Amino acid sequence: MSEVVVVGGGLAGCEAAWQLAQRGLPVRLIEMRPERMTGAHRTSWLAELVCSNSLGSALPDRAAGWLVNELSRCGSLLIEVARACTVPAGGALAVDRDRFACTVTERIERHPNIQVERREVLSVPPPPCIIATGPLTSPALSADLERRVGHRALFFYDAIAPVVAGDSLDRSIVFAASRRGQGVLPEGDYLNCPFTREEYDRFVEALRTAERAPLAEFEREIDQGVKAGEGPFFEGCLPIEVLAARDPLALAYGPLRPVGLQDPRTGRRPWAVLQLRREDPAGERYNLVGCQTNLRVSEQERVFRMVPGLAQARFLRYGQMHRNTYLNAPRILGPDLSLRGHPGIWIAGQLAGVEGYLGNIATGLVAGIQAARWVRGQPPIEWPTSHMIGALLNALSHSDPVWFQPIKANFGLLPPLPEAPASRAARLELWSRRAQEDWSRLACELHRDLVGPAPGD
Ligand SMILES: Cc1cc2nc3c(=O)[nH]c(=O)nc-3n(C[C@H](O)[C@H](O)[C@H](O)COP(=O)(O)OP(=O)(O)OC[C@H]3O[C@@H](n4cnc5c(N)ncnc54)[C@H](O)[C@@H]3O)c2cc1C
Repeated sequence: MSEVVVVGGGLAGCEAAWQLAQRGLPVRLIEMRPERMTGAHRTSWLAELVCSNSLGSALPDRAAGWLVNELSRCGSLLIEVARACTVPAGGALAVDRDRFACTVTERIERHPNIQVERREVLSVPPPPCIIATGPLTSPALSADLERRVGHRALFFYDAIAPVVAGDSLDRSIVFAASRRGQGVLPEGDYLNCPFTREEYDRFVEALRTAERAPLAEFEREIDQGVKAGEGPFFEGCLPIEVLAARDPLALAYGPLRPVGLQDPRTGRRPWAVLQLRREDPAGERYNLVGCQTNLRVSEQERVFRMVPGLAQARFLRYGQMHRNTYLNAPRILGPDLSLRGHPGIWIAGQLAGVEGYLGNIATGLVAGIQAARWVRGQPPIEWPTSHMIGALLNALSHSDPVWFQPIKANFGLLPPLPEAPASRAARLELWSRRAQEDWSRLACELHRDLVGPAPGD
């Protein structure tokens, strides 16, 4: 049986290696620490949690809780270890980080099918292999990946735009319409905040003078690169305050251009328009398009509430900027996380465009399972989209590549219900029932993979 190489011994890489090994495949797990450290890791343990010690909510009515439950049913090593290392944290699955990483390291190193090697991988190994080198993938490997996928498919940092609550928008001002070229979307997927010239000038001035959040040490290179107008940055992803500082009209000709839009109140084209894009089918959350920012949180509230229609906006997520290497998943990954056009190579973890510890573990689990099937000549498992794991995979491979940003598990990713009840509890009940109906087929396939086909099957 061919050996599968897993590059990166973080959350996704460890889970992937375990799944392969449990299916009887020989695995070589290559981790560069301690020979070469990242800017965030502190130890040489595998599966080190770089920041928070919480994997997220474990409550059954939370998207993270669904992931914990699904991962556990699918035989995740990392969830098993997390549950054995918990510290009290209300409804969250929080762990003693040292015990967690130490136990995962021991379990991986003791597995008879896994060989751990400590060195930096400089280029993508020959197939079959899984690349799970995370948001801080070393520069040499990033450069090789970029050569394979093209520079527009690999991002080096995240500048996230704020998200606001749909019910906090002033509907007497914002209007539904798509710009030319956005017409493929159903009318109303975009809401528009129209600026007069005076409102625009005040907004731009506020952006230019607002206080920015300090950057962590290893993120300073991003800042320097932006200031120098160089480095691995994409114009389409520059923080809005950086664009505003370049030229007062940069926004009016860039992300806030009003082309193809007419304000129904005046019947005229506004001076500029900030568009809001739905984050979920029900329109409970809206993303401020083009407003990726590194302003301080209090400044974000002050400045973005100057946008017409957002005076009372409730922020559900604030913008932020951090180092993050990730691929444009919808452009280049299949639903089984394989790299399109490169048979036998899978991408897992943050590099695949998922956000959050649990999502990273989930993609590691999927990549490991799918790679094992590929080696055995079996087709990939089609993950049900009624499950949070399947919904994440579906979002990764089917989101709009133009707007793609790392995705975190949330109920908005589940396919809509035929008739969605108004109450959240009732919706949850229906979502759970639908997911449970799909579980038996998936469970059968996973079980067969582990123990081989039943006699006469
Ligand atoms: C500073 C920071 C803080 C974060 N905080 C949180 C948080 O609080 N909560 C949360 O949910 N998410 C957080 N994230 C996001 C993400 O969930 C974590 O980074 C998570 O660890 C990613 O899992 P992963 O398996 O994709 O990568 P990692 O866990 O980072 O694992 C990747 C591994 O690959 C190794 N590696 C890299 N390049 C090479 C190479 N060329 N050869 C061999 N090995 C290599 C690295 O040393 C590392 O061990 C944070 C990210 C960062 C950068």
